[in-house]
Amino acid sequence: MSQSPTQSASAGCIFCRIVRGEAPAHVVYEDEHVMAFLDIHPLVEGHTMVIPKGHYETLEAVPPELVGKVFEGVRKVSEAMRRALRAEATTIGINNGRAAGQVVPHLHVHILPRYAGDGGGTIHSIIHRPANKSLEEVQKLLQGSL
Ligand code: 5GP
Ligand code: ZN
Repeated sequence: MSQSPTQSASAGCIFCRIVRGEAPAHVVYEDEHVMAFLDIHPLVEGHTMVIPKGHYETLEAVPPELVGKVFEGVRKVSEAMRRALRAEATTIGINNGRAAGQVVPHLHVHILPRYAGDGGGTIHSIIHRPANKSLEEVQKLLQGSL
C-alpha cells in the first residue's frame, strides 16, 4: 500500500531520524502529524522546513487527509515568521522529486522569510523553457488526467 509510510526507506532517512529524536534539529513546532525545524544550511535567517512525521517522498505519496495538516503547519510557521522575525512576506516551496532538485527524499516544505529589497528571486526565476504545446493542448492533457 502506498498510503502508509515506507518502513525500509525511513530507517536511514535523516528527517525520520530527526522525528524519532535520533538526530538533532532546531525544532520550532511539532504536533501529532507534522514537525517544523530550521534548515541546517539556511538560505536566509529563519529558513524553516515543515514535514509530515511519516516518511513520504513526494507530495503525491502523502495521504490526502494528511496534506491539509502539513499545509496548516506551513501556515502556522509562516504566520510566526511575520510576527517573530518581522517578515513582510514568505516564499513557500517544495522541491517535489529528484528532477526538481529534491535531495532529501522525505517531503519537506521550505519556508523563507522575505523582506522588500532582500535581493531574493521569485517562483518565476526557477525555470524558463519555451512551451511547445498551446495552452489549450496542455489544458486538455491535465484535465483528462484529473
Ligand atoms: P531539498 O533540496 O531536498 O529540498 O533540500 C533539503 C534541505 O534539507 C536542504 O536545504 C538542506 O540544507 C537540509 N538538510 C539536509 N540535511 C539536514 C539535516 O540533517 N538537518 C537539517 N535541519 N536540515 C538538513
Ligand atoms: Zn523519512
